[in-house]
Amino acid sequence: MDIPIRQFAPEGQSVKDDKIYTAVGVGEWGLEQGEVRSFPDPLANPVQVGVCRRCQALVEQPPQQTECPYCRATNTPDGYRIVDVNEPPGFCTWWKMDADFSGNFGFTSRALRSRMGSARDAPQQRCNFIVDSPTGNIYLVNDRDGQDFLFRKLDNHDVWLTDEAFQKALLDLPPDRRRNITPPQFDANEQPLRRAIASIFRTDVLIAGINSVPVGLSLNPAVPEARAAWYSFGFMLRRAATAHLDVATSELEVGIQPLQNLTIPFAPPTAQVFICDTLENGAGYSTYLADPQRFEALLRSLLSPGEAGRPSVFDLLTAHEHQTECLTACRCLREFLNMSYHPLLDWRLGLDMVRLALDANAEISFEYPYWRNLLNTVAQAYFRDLNMQPRQFGRLAAGIYQMQNQAVLLTHPLWDTDARTGNFCQHLAEAYAEAEQAGFTPKLHSIFRAVRFPYE
Ligand SMILES: [Zn+2]
Ligand SMILES: [Zn+2]
Repeated sequence: MDIPIRQFAPEGQSVKDDKIYTAVGVGEWGLEQGEVRSFPDPLANPVQVGVCRRCQALVEQPPQQTECPYCRATNTPDGYRIVDVNEPPGFCTWWKMDADFSGNFGFTSRALRSRMGSARDAPQQRCNFIVDSPTGNIYLVNDRDGQDFLFRKLDNHDVWLTDEAFQKALLDLPPDRRRNITPPQFDANEQPLRRAIASIFRTDVLIAGINSVPVGLSLNPAVPEARAAWYSFGFMLRRAATAHLDVATSELEVGIQPLQNLTIPFAPPTAQVFICDTLENGAGYSTYLADPQRFEALLRSLLSPGEAGRPSVFDLLTAHEHQTECLTACRCLREFLNMSYHPLLDWRLGLDMVRLALDANAEISFEYPYWRNLLNTVAQAYFRDLNMQPRQFGRLAAGIYQMQNQAVLLTHPLWDTDARTGNFCQHLAEAYAEAEQAGFTPKLHSIFRAVRFPYE
């Protein structure tokens, strides 16, 4: 169902035999006494879930409140919404409305993320990670980027379609053909149905979280930098897992989910990654990897040096050339299958999470070589391009806006920069105080943003 949920949802387009077909609606078709017929109510019995675009929550049986129970995001298309979802039994185009393929068709497949309802079996701790292997419900929800689909029933047919999709299909036709299309006649006696569509399946899941988070860090998935770290961690784990199990990347799906935890030093929630088998009921890979010793070995394999002539993942990532050229992520983390995550992925953050999962005292700062190298590569040019005067406060690189008396401190992406939580790490606290003593107003900016949006 994952492909139809993306591609055959209303307004989705497919090319076949030099024609573009635009999906317009849903229905259920089947054989009855040797004849094809359609069955009524393809959108019956929706499931209600809460979907949060900030912290990536999927809330099953959501309480009827307007904010995210994890991160308090409010009810906006970019925040938290309660939606009615269906798994449509079938999808359709509008008969005779196939446009000639001109070669430039917009690939409209939406960027969807796998999400998981909360599930728990028997969490086990080892090193500084916690692993669990429950059976969980995995959702891939297409809610039209937070807008929902408004389905209306066709008169005399058990087919439900959206007018937006029909209009889009119509626009792709040349004007002379448009005139010959009979528009849909809707059934005036049926109320329109506002729905998201989804694939929902139940499978074995590996869940991995960080046990103890050192003071000064934030792993809150509603913060873009931390979200990026969790996803980078997840895809790095998948890369190692598929190599270890010798299976295709498509056999394991990755996602993250928020988690309430009262022991964290930063504003809640924290998060965990999940890896699941993509086959319904699972092939058992996730359960196999959730064994704490195996999981530790998987983490260590990502940090270990290779043998002569056979460089390891760590060797390739930290090779001088890769460090200099790959400021965020290249093919080291980016794959066709995680395209919708490409802007977030970052190999340095992925490795930080691996190190943190193994050791609560891991050095998460610019003292660690691959961050030091990144800072040396980008900081000077970044400040110069924004007409800031480079300066150093404590151990941090800063740029001065003389006019505003402002000192922009470049921070590590996993550092908590929320002044309200009072959770500054030592390096940040020292630099912050030093900048203030020098008479500047400190402004915190993560190197994650500086690299991605250099003119922000
Ligand atoms: Zn949330
Ligand atoms: Zn790379």
